[in-house]
Amino acid sequence: MKNSFLENLNQGVLGLKPYEPGLPLEHTQKKLGLEKMIKLASNENPLGPSPKALDLLQGKMNSFSSELNRYPDGNAYELKEAISKKYCVDPNQITIGNGSNDLIEFVSRCFLREGKKAIYSQHGFAIYPLAIKATGALPVKSKAKNWGHDLELMIDLIDEKTKVVFIASPNNPTGTAKTLLEINDFLDNLPDDILVFLDQAYYEYIEGSEFDIPFSLIDDHPNLVISRSFSKAHGLAALRLGFCVSNPELSDYLNRVRQPFNANSLALNLGKVALSDQEHISKSVKINSSGMDRVKKAFTNLDFNYIESWGNFISFDAKQDSDVAFQYFLEKGVILRSLKVYEMPQHLRVSIGTEEEMDFFLQVLEDYEKDLSKK
Ligand SMILES: *Cc1c(COP(=O)(O)O)cnc(C)c1O
Repeated sequence: MKNSFLENLNQGVLGLKPYEPGLPLEHTQKKLGLEKMIKLASNENPLGPSPKALDLLQGKMNSFSSELNRYPDGNAYELKEAISKKYCVDPNQITIGNGSNDLIEFVSRCFLREGKKAIYSQHGFAIYPLAIKATGALPVKSKAKNWGHDLELMIDLIDEKTKVVFIASPNNPTGTAKTLLEINDFLDNLPDDILVFLDQAYYEYIEGSEFDIPFSLIDDHPNLVISRSFSKAHGLAALRLGFCVSNPELSDYLNRVRQPFNANSLALNLGKVALSDQEHISKSVKINSSGMDRVKKAFTNLDFNYIESWGNFISFDAKQDSDVAFQYFLEKGVILRSLKVYEMPQHLRVSIGTEEEMDFFLQVLEDYEKDLSKK
């Protein structure tokens, strides 16, 4: 039988490849029959969510359960209030997403369609070209510079069809970040009618105040949208929650394309508490920072080149094909990320885990280096 209806697929959808998530831990461990396995593949917070959020979950289990038949608050009133207080932005500047990936889609749907273009960077986050293509617009890949976004080139690539530029700082999977000065310069040199989506999923992990890009930048640049996520430092990846801040007129439109109940009740309730748990955030950042230092020292000692990272992960040159290297670590019980699909054919990305997880990873890394030098 011929599925003739498939001939009517959007041209953009025809060109899509499914996003490949990190391997699931339990299933992979069972399949390989390994006694121990750790997952350092998806930049999750190894400490888990805020204990205060977990207390709320446990303490309110009954009331949450009795409300499962109710729709969530479609306006996310309380969460927006909490974001508004914490970051000194107006609630009407905020758009809530089902994960911050949702927000990438809102912007794409609002500004892109067939015949339009959007720019993203080589070695950039995989979701941008996916969201761009789905609208029928053309994704334009800007060549990276020192593994990071080449902001000057991104401006040079703009033509009359270009409507949106996607930037991640820190960027995943390279970990590179832009300073406030660099972003400011970029915005000053960019035509006003181009929308900039600045993705700050790893914001909490950034160390160094020159990389702190505040929401107040939107006051001078109404074409700027800044997104944040609850999936990384806040440790709530499973609940799917993110938000963006923009000028109110734009957030009004973003909220029009948003499905009314895109963020669920648990996410709204736990997200609000996680946001206020500065103690847990600081602890997460501290563990990340010491784990990062250890890994970088080991890379240096074992002579692996790595890319300086501002996130909770680091990418290194495995000195052979990424997929082969990935398989080596997998069979020794460490799930990493091969960066072949990111045009980094010898790089692996490792998320910074707990101290114990890093012990295990570093042991396997040593073995890997020994086996490699025997070849
Ligand atoms: C992990 C990540 C996100 C977060 O996506 P969520 O939908 O919030 O889970 C967004 N952008 C980048 C660059 C990321 O690495």
